[in-house]
Amino acid sequence: MDVLEVRNIMETYQSDNGETTALRNISFSVQKGQFVSIVGPSGCGKSTLLSIIAGLMKPTSGEVFVNGEKISGTSPHIGYMLQRDNLLDWRTIYKNVLFGLEVRKMLTPETRERAVCLLKNYGLYEFRDKYPAQLSGGMRQRAALIRTLAINPDILLLDEAFSALDYQTRLTVTEDVCRILKKEKITTVMVTHDIPESISMGDRILVLSARPAVVQEILDIDFDDP
Ligand code: ADP
Ligand code: ADP
Repeated sequence: MDVLEVRNIMETYQSDNGETTALRNISFSVQKGQFVSIVGPSGCGKSTLLSIIAGLMKPTSGEVFVNGEKISGTSPHIGYMLQRDNLLDWRTIYKNVLFGLEVRKMLTPETRERAVCLLKNYGLYEFRDKYPAQLSGGMRQRAALIRTLAINPDILLLDEAFSALDYQTRLTVTEDVCRILKKEKITTVMVTHDIPESISMGDRILVLSARPAVVQEILDIDFDDP
């Protein structure tokens, strides 16, 4: 089944020096459990596309469907992770992980238990009373991932989530993240300008090309076994 369907998305920004069409005729579907990388140069519209899928931005035209339902606005079924880990410095790792549930008014004994399980399964339980500054960049990124997974999203969106890490850490973290996402069977859409990263992480690669004033093309190479 398609967990996500993006249909004919177009986004035009108005500014003082006229219009910028960031996205034109973008359509694709993502099946359950797939990891789709969307790769393209800086400024080609990757963040715009992800913000639209996250429901943080309304497209000029086009539609987004999650589990067959058209979305308007943010959805509790979608988790969103950005370049910065956005952990709150004054809260412990445990409290940070619960925070994602709190802001969504989803904190119940069951969801708390899920959060604790994730911390245990992915080696952060012993660090639960530490503050973000006491953890390495890789551990913080893992904590941020667990905070997002605690809400049990149907779709995880990653926006250049690893760009801020140094090269060595990035290699370890991306491997770590792939392992966790495969295990949890989370459907993921990641945007990145990093071609090797898109290939090493994705089951499927979409290429967003930026040629000014030309329709953007999506090249769909599906590496998945049938
Ligand atoms: P990417 O994430 O691939 O770097 P963005 O989605 O950030 O690309 O931006 C796509 C295009 O839209 C760029 O040309 C950018 O300058 C333009 N753009 C992005 N946000 C705005 C905005 N708020 N107002 C006007 N133009 C914007
Ligand atoms: P508060 O009383 O401030 O709401 P909590 O009871 O939520 O605090 O958590 C205080 C500390 O107790 C946490 O940092 C964590 O180490 C531990 N803790 C609380 N609940 C659990 C739990 N279900 N499993 C494991 N540790 C927990």
